[in-house]
Amino acid sequence: MEKIKMMTPIVEMDGDEMARILWKMVKDELIHPYVELKSEYFDLGLENRNETADQVTVDAANATKKYGVAVKCATITPNAARMKEYNLKEMWKSPNGTIRAILDGTVFRTPIIVKGIEPYVRSWKKPITIARHAYGDVYKSVEMDIQGPGKAKLIFTGEDGTEIQETVFEFKGPGVLQGMHNLDKSIASFARSCFNYALDIRQDLWFAAKDTISKKYDHTFKDIFDEIFNAQYKEKFEQAGITYFYTLIDDAIARVMKSEGGFIWACKNYDGDVMSDMVSSAFGSLAMMTSVLVSPDGNYEYEAAHGTVQRHYYKYLKGEKTSTNSVAILFAWTGALRKRGELDGIEALKQFADRMEQAAIRTIESGKMTNDLAVITSLENVQTLDSAEFIKAVRASYESLL
Ligand code: NAP
Ligand code: MG
Repeated sequence: MEKIKMMTPIVEMDGDEMARILWKMVKDELIHPYVELKSEYFDLGLENRNETADQVTVDAANATKKYGVAVKCATITPNAARMKEYNLKEMWKSPNGTIRAILDGTVFRTPIIVKGIEPYVRSWKKPITIARHAYGDVYKSVEMDIQGPGKAKLIFTGEDGTEIQETVFEFKGPGVLQGMHNLDKSIASFARSCFNYALDIRQDLWFAAKDTISKKYDHTFKDIFDEIFNAQYKEKFEQAGITYFYTLIDDAIARVMKSEGGFIWACKNYDGDVMSDMVSSAFGSLAMMTSVLVSPDGNYEYEAAHGTVQRHYYKYLKGEKTSTNSVAILFAWTGALRKRGELDGIEALKQFADRMEQAAIRTIESGKMTNDLAVITSLENVQTLDSAEFIKAVRASYESLL
């Protein structure tokens, strides 16, 4: 059979540990045999980040801006232990943080749903995608311990010297204090990424905050979303048959729990941190969660939501068998190839992505799965496969679909 041809390369960012091992296996078994892969390769493995003083991460992000579509493997974010383990020159920053800062994007996380791995919330039938604003609020706040009585003020001094001030609180005794901010520009980028992505995948968009209590801060978020929606997206949403609505965060929670799923839930930074972990655990498994970074000007970076799976890697290094789930890594590849197919008008590439995803889902639904799923599935007659066997089973399932 002839391999599918590509026009524009995708940006490929390799990573670390077990994720890197699976990355190669997925490519060799499930991509290369069927697609004449065009990719611009960047090795974001920690050794190479250290050798290039992290320039490779910046180059990879810039290449994503140039080509529009990237696929990324999980990477180690260094800490003190990793400094020693890899003999690092510096504690390099999180690659995802660096890439996000350059692309100015929003991260959308979506669970992969299969029969036999039931969500804990009974009404959920379709995936819920969480969009998390990735700038500011409590993540860029300043804090103070207040030791005793005194007055706390919020002061803004304009460049021209004008001052606005507001009393935060008159302390009678010890307490704590916090100041945080956000930027219209960042909120607008977030809104645009959300509206574009909703149109892309044709799903409703929900946004929730607490503007009844936070009459300036959260209200600004609500207003910016409204303005951009009404000016640029309202008609497009109508044409696509989808809706956008804003509601209070507590109302959103109640609705989410009673919903069927099948929508995008845009969250402020902290809400997104908390809710994405709730949604992913309620859907069953971190290994079945995909993630895509979408920039407001339409660049896409696909990845698995899980990390490098360090514990499995140490087993692998000792020559032991691992049963590590490669589904989210595979879906990162199919996501990127499908998007490339859409942008370049290559029907065969889109079809390949759809079929390969279907093959992975069928494999699991037929009872063949890795251990992380085997321990939670409601299916009977389950065959627990190791990392390589599972990928081979997906290949067999794909071949049977041809
Ligand atoms: P992790 O790699 O996601 O793994 C946490 C645990 O979840 C694993 O030990 C494993 O549980 C289970 N798990 C995750 N993915 C799995 C898969 N594909 N198949 C089977 N089980 C899976 O998170 P971590 O251990 O906290 O972090 C390890 C490294 O990854 C860190 O250096 C961190 O910086 C990095 N990280 C990178 C990214 C990214 O690049 N996007 C994201 C998160 C973390 P059991 O051990 O119980 O089997
Ligand atoms: Mg978190």
